[in-house]
Amino acid sequence: MTNAPLQKITIVGGGTAGWMAGASLAKLLRSETCQVTLIESEDIGTVGVGEATIPQILLFNKLLEIDEDDFIKKTQGSFKLGIEFVNWGSLDSSYFHAFGSVGKDMRGVQFYHYWLKMRAQGKAADIDDYTLSSQACLQKKFMRPIDAGNSPLSKVAYAYHFDAGLYAAYLREYAEQRGLIRVEGKVVKTHLRDDGFIRSVELENGDLHEADFFIDCSGFRGLLIEEALKTGYVDWTHWLPCDRAVAVACERTADPIPYTRSTARSAGWQWRIPLQHRTGNGHVYSSKFMSDDEARKILLDNLDGAPISEPKQLRFVTGMRKKFWNKNCLALGLASGFMEPLESTSIHLMQAGLAKFMSFFPNKNCDAADVDEYNRQMTFDFERIRDFLIAHYHVTDRDDTEFWRYCKTMDIPDSLAQKIEQFKANGRVYRQNNEMFSDLSWFELMYGQGIVPRGYHSLVDNIPEDELQERLEGIRSVISQSVDYMPTHQEFIDKNCRAKTM
Ligand SMILES: Cc1cc2nc3c(=O)[nH]c(=O)nc-3n(C[C@H](O)[C@H](O)[C@H](O)COP(=O)(O)OP(=O)(O)OC[C@H]3O[C@@H](n4cnc5c(N)ncnc54)[C@H](O)[C@@H]3O)c2cc1C
Repeated sequence: MTNAPLQKITIVGGGTAGWMAGASLAKLLRSETCQVTLIESEDIGTVGVGEATIPQILLFNKLLEIDEDDFIKKTQGSFKLGIEFVNWGSLDSSYFHAFGSVGKDMRGVQFYHYWLKMRAQGKAADIDDYTLSSQACLQKKFMRPIDAGNSPLSKVAYAYHFDAGLYAAYLREYAEQRGLIRVEGKVVKTHLRDDGFIRSVELENGDLHEADFFIDCSGFRGLLIEEALKTGYVDWTHWLPCDRAVAVACERTADPIPYTRSTARSAGWQWRIPLQHRTGNGHVYSSKFMSDDEARKILLDNLDGAPISEPKQLRFVTGMRKKFWNKNCLALGLASGFMEPLESTSIHLMQAGLAKFMSFFPNKNCDAADVDEYNRQMTFDFERIRDFLIAHYHVTDRDDTEFWRYCKTMDIPDSLAQKIEQFKANGRVYRQNNEMFSDLSWFELMYGQGIVPRGYHSLVDNIPEDELQERLEGIRSVISQSVDYMPTHQEFIDKNCRAKTM
């Protein structure tokens, strides 16, 4: 054991997780003091899905000092202002989980509480009328935030859709330019030291790669974290019963919309992700309630354009590793756990894992106190996102299939039950320790899926009703004028970041 600094880090896997790790380490470490190597196997390939993100990814790009227009062009990307959820709370219903603010908070109280009061009296329009992102989605508009004082246009919050393969290629070029060494080859064996730490990985051609620290980005198998270190897995299938997906790309038939669409189906849901050159689609479902053939048929019957690839079948177990960091191995991406892409959180969890890894950056010793704290924080992040996903299935009026009846009546984690009860009372949600989703996101989800709270924040009554109504009208009008000002999503892309070949 030594507290000497890390001199060699080896990443196993070159999918989204591997290249995000590779790019950020290449940016932050000096290759003369710590050499980063990435081993990947073209024969095995990547999962090749994972194309929708959340606004936090802008911070990752900022860290890497990536030029956004160049990035969008090279990944056939588009912009995302939120997610439309169709048929979740009930059949024929829809709502937006929109990025950014809703209305304008007043006197320290969230806007939506004022809206709840006025809505109950029939004196407020739909919540979308007060939400810049939702209105922009509905009108297919987009622009980046501008310096416009108090205007909502100063605070446009957005993320990206991109082609997963092109994203990995983009980050690969970035990392290799900064000194990362890429090795093509299949890892066939992991050698451990006497203390249980990983000493080296062995490739099919017999080459041994020794390192002080390993990052396992090998996908679902978890080649190092599970197969070598036997870390163990926490299975959440009883709460999130979907365990399969079938994905297919189809032709682009219209200008890309600036949002992801998620449509609930009879035993799962279907995603639609618009890119510049094609549309990504997939159907996530539970094999307990639906056959693969049926799932595939539902997907193919519900595409906007002709399919341009063979449907790809994927199996997964929703859950997380018992430890994300075990000895001298950190797991990222699918190797660390899996939650379905209902809220596009996996790429964010890779980013969060990397950010925390940098703040707990170890020496060769990998002190248990730091490792334990890392694991505690990542477990917290995973579990809070898990609750948000479960709520999509559980907070519903749907009982039209066995799958929905199961989800509606299943036991849920206490942490989620507490949030639902609190929301039902006065529309409040207590956000613990910077958990990923804010009370606003919870409001959009729970109200959108059918819970109308009995009350609202009591401080709302401090503003007289006639004044409140005027304010609401003013906010609605500002939102409407702001969206009028925005170009269409396609116009914005054409002007700033149109990909060369579409
Ligand atoms: C259906 C589905 C949809 C998803 N959609 C989203 C989304 O919209 N947004 C989001 O944030 N996340 C999404 N995810 C989750 C996740 O972000 C993506 O799946 C992402 O592409 C996973 O990347 P990865 O690097 O962890 O794994 P992989 O892409 O599987 O990469 C694994 C890498 O390890 C290599 N490898 C494996 N074994 C070996 C070996 N023996 N030797 C050498 N190399 C090896 C492979 O060659 C590959 O390079 C989705 C996941 C699924 C399953």
